[in-house]
Amino acid sequence: MYVLLREFEGRPAATAGRGKDPVNEAMIRHWCEAMGDAHPAYAGPDAVAPPAMLQAWTMGGLSGHADRSSAYDELLALLDGAGYRSVVATDCEQEYLRPLRPGDRITFDAVIESVSPRKTTKLGTGHFVTTRMDVQADGEPAGTHRFRILKYAPAGAPKREAAAGAGAQPAARRPRPVVNRDNRGFWDGVAEHRLLIQRCTGCGTLRFPWLPGCNACASPDWDTVEACGAGTVFSYVVMHHPPFPAFDPPYAVGLVELAEGVRMITNITGVPYDKVRIGMPVRLEFLRVDEDLELPVFRGSEG
Ligand code: ZN
Repeated sequence: MYVLLREFEGRPAATAGRGKDPVNEAMIRHWCEAMGDAHPAYAGPDAVAPPAMLQAWTMGGLSGHADRSSAYDELLALLDGAGYRSVVATDCEQEYLRPLRPGDRITFDAVIESVSPRKTTKLGTGHFVTTRMDVQADGEPAGTHRFRILKYAPAGAPKREAAAGAGAQPAARRPRPVVNRDNRGFWDGVAEHRLLIQRCTGCGTLRFPWLPGCNACASPDWDTVEACGAGTVFSYVVMHHPPFPAFDPPYAVGLVELAEGVRMITNITGVPYDKVRIGMPVRLEFLRVDEDLELPVFRGSEG
């Protein structure tokens, strides 16, 4: 398997790509507002683009790039077929060779730089795939963007080898939560049919979802409060598209405000998707999804 994977090293992931827009003030301003970065170098007549925007100028948007190479898709398909069906972006590294200024025209080439030997991580076993994008501005080298993903088989999930027959697709299962030391207490609570909210012991602020520290006072110390189970629909969306194998659209995804004040993204049960309404009272229950997954959801009632 690794011999096959290594054959992808050095193959192009994108060739002679072109940025959809030249470097421009509007995108620089939007980025700075989103990042809360008011550095004076990024505004005014001599503005340069924030260096970390390097990748932004190469992005294809929803319509994508026409010049995308097939090698990267083939590599991911090979990993999928070997049972490494999950993916997580692990890190990126950038190197800046010259400042980018409004008007610069961006081109880029990307190559599959490396595929790691099989590695076992806390998430599961798989291969790291690193792509390197070389970015040019008006034909001059402007920087390098390395992007690394882990394609993996989640720990505890049965691994399907490619040889097991590509046609035999088992029934899709709901995605598994990634349980780590920051959120283990939440899932321990679910196992006992208790919905636990973190409470900062420094300032008393409740927080959900679970986090390693308090956003209000930065204290890492916490205990928990058990939700009483009452809530109201604060907002919701109805999912029609894209279809995802484990789900059966259309269905409602709710943002439920718990009686304790925190909000939680969850499923609304007990009412059809088109009868969910903002302000609807809902009640906590636990949904057994399959033999090893149980989720807190909220049941509404019509009228
Ligand atoms: Zn606090």
